[in-house]
Amino acid sequence: MANLIGEVFGAAGAVLNGMGVTLKEMMSPTVTENYPDEPPVLQERFRGVHQLQRDVNGLEKCVACFLCAVACPSTCIYIEAAENTEQVRISGGERYARVYNIDYNRCIFCGYCVEACPTDAITHGHGFEVASYNTSPLVKRKEDMLVAIPVGAKPPVNELAETGGGH
Ligand code: SF4
Ligand code: SF4
Repeated sequence: MANLIGEVFGAAGAVLNGMGVTLKEMMSPTVTENYPDEPPVLQERFRGVHQLQRDVNGLEKCVACFLCAVACPSTCIYIEAAENTEQVRISGGERYARVYNIDYNRCIFCGYCVEACPTDAITHGHGFEVASYNTSPLVKRKEDMLVAIPVGAKPPVNELAETGGGH
């Protein structure tokens, strides 16, 4: 009999505890995101689609050292290097990435590439809307990820040539 009474009190206590948690949550502010009607709040360190950075002069920071590709556990970074010349200077180093692709079918947003980069050329942006029924758009090219030339910086030599400008 004493056992039965103990069990009843135990069960009642558990129910009261549960109700207490429910009431507490009911009084707490709602944290539901109304995405896509409202943009989500992303933390500063959120790892979204990568960005390829430029220096203050507008030159690409990537010097095609391949360290990011080596560090990538998904082998989803593809780079083709080319040499800078006096006539065509794209990056501040000897080489630049003529081709720089990331395959987001495989990327796991681990950030190892960002950690490995010696020039801070590759960073995570906040873009996350990359879902697709097709695999092709998920292969992002350098042109998709390269940030704009900073205001006031002189465009790199090749871009002047492409736009018909010059010295
Ligand atoms: S975030 Fe990770 S998986 Fe994605 S490209 Fe960088 S190293 Fe590779
Ligand atoms: S992004 Fe950084 S690590 Fe990758 S090739 Fe360019 S300079 Fe090297």
